[in-house]
Amino acid sequence: MADADRRMFLKVLGLGVASAAGLAPRAEAGPIHEGSRVMEGEPTSGGGPVALEGGKVVQPRREIPVMRQTDVLVVGGGSAGVVAAIAAARAGARVTILERYGCFGGLWTGGLVLIVLCTHAQHGGRLLKCVHGVGDEMMERLVRIPGGIIDQAPGRRNPTSDPEATKYIMDVMLTEAKVDIVLHSWVTNAIVDGGTVRGVIAESKSGCRAFLANVVVDATGDGDVLAAAGADHVRHIHRIGLVHRLGNVDRVAPPAGAPRPPDLGSGTPLPSVRWVNMQGPQGDCLDVETLTRCELGGRRAVWERLRKLQETPGYERVFLLDTASQLGVRASRTLKGVHELRLEDAKADRTYPDVVGIGGSESFIGERPCQIPYGTLVPAKLDGLLAAGRCVAADNLMLNYTRLIAPCFLTGQAAGAAAALASQQHCRPRDLDVKQLQALLRKQGVYLGEA
Ligand SMILES: Cc1cc2nc3c(=O)[nH]c(=O)nc-3n(C[C@H](O)[C@H](O)[C@H](O)COP(=O)(O)OP(=O)(O)OC[C@H]3O[C@@H](n4cnc5c(N)ncnc54)[C@H](O)[C@@H]3O)c2cc1C
Repeated sequence: MADADRRMFLKVLGLGVASAAGLAPRAEAGPIHEGSRVMEGEPTSGGGPVALEGGKVVQPRREIPVMRQTDVLVVGGGSAGVVAAIAAARAGARVTILERYGCFGGLWTGGLVLIVLCTHAQHGGRLLKCVHGVGDEMMERLVRIPGGIIDQAPGRRNPTSDPEATKYIMDVMLTEAKVDIVLHSWVTNAIVDGGTVRGVIAESKSGCRAFLANVVVDATGDGDVLAAAGADHVRHIHRIGLVHRLGNVDRVAPPAGAPRPPDLGSGTPLPSVRWVNMQGPQGDCLDVETLTRCELGGRRAVWERLRKLQETPGYERVFLLDTASQLGVRASRTLKGVHELRLEDAKADRTYPDVVGIGGSESFIGERPCQIPYGTLVPAKLDGLLAAGRCVAADNLMLNYTRLIAPCFLTGQAAGAAAALASQQHCRPRDLDVKQLQALLRKQGVYLGEA
């Protein structure tokens, strides 16, 4: 059928022209269509298919097309990566952010981890707001969206946000900062030249592509870039949980004298919706078979829990709204950095001349604020790379602090600002003048104690 005829046919059926694109592939087998335009060729990685040689799978030597060349490349768009990208762009750098999924936020949104812990601490007999800067700005912007966030207000701590509103605000703020965004790209390797990271390799529907940069920020949470680049690091086994949300929770009506209500998780900005954190089993978060088991087992556990809940008198109308699209990986790799944050130091209120963030309190460190030094972001040996978020250098107790969302904002902002400065000054991140970095962070609104 010719295009004009098809349009007339669809008009008679009351369908728009856009529907024509939907019909085309079914009507015509063969060439790939984008709307009515035939696409020539395939996105290619170069080098042709992988070969089987003597029973072994062999990747042929090939040239990889360069997709971007930039000042700062942020890999991973979770709470740390998004803040890093915005901080670097606001410091004047050209920034690209690469994310494997189709949205930003990482565990904060895709993982349905909604409560932002460690925003405040007790200090000098009062509640001190520690988290300012880009992370706090993001949460302030969420206040302006109906159903965007709760508990983000003076005198309140640890707000809970809505994941969809958070994804949207992240898109808006990255775009406003003129960050170059590349989604659906999974970084699989690092480009290293003489002990300096020069970029990464990412796989996507476009094929295999190289991204070059003066400084790379590893905000993958799992330290994928630092490990691929050969930076010293520590591997961790931790709990892997599948978080979910329940709906209709305000319709719960247990009869008088009924058994104690089951745990219904905590409130969210959406009426009648609560989110339920699942601990899950211990496992190696870098083992794809473990991840597969945890995903399947986690979903089964959620449905079993729901069934029991719905069988409880008064809870029949509670329903499962969603399970997280991103499995709840708590810790997998941490960098071996110039400095390692240790629990005993946090408990001793240790301060650092290279402080780049002060986080709020968490029960296991006490009600005190906690200083984070720049050295926790800088690899002990490798150059051209900084870590941000849950993979920064911390011991296996303190990583339960650095992996929380508000501290991830802080290490993200520090890494982004430092990467921009190092790129502008053509120096290694480890050689940065920390006083200059601290001045830039203060200018960006970060709280580093009384000046
Ligand atoms: C079950 C659970 C409950 C938690 N509860 C809380 C809580 O109550 N409060 C709190 O503050 N914190 C909590 N946390 C911790 C917190 O949610 C995370 O540690 C934090 O959000 C991590 O942020 P991040 O940016 O460092 O990493 P992530 O959120 O993991 O972001 C990493 C990003 O990088 C992308 N990425 C990863 N690898 C690649 C790659 N190779 N190529 C391209 N992109 C990649 C990911 O898709 C993701 O978007 C919890 C965590 C879990 C798992």
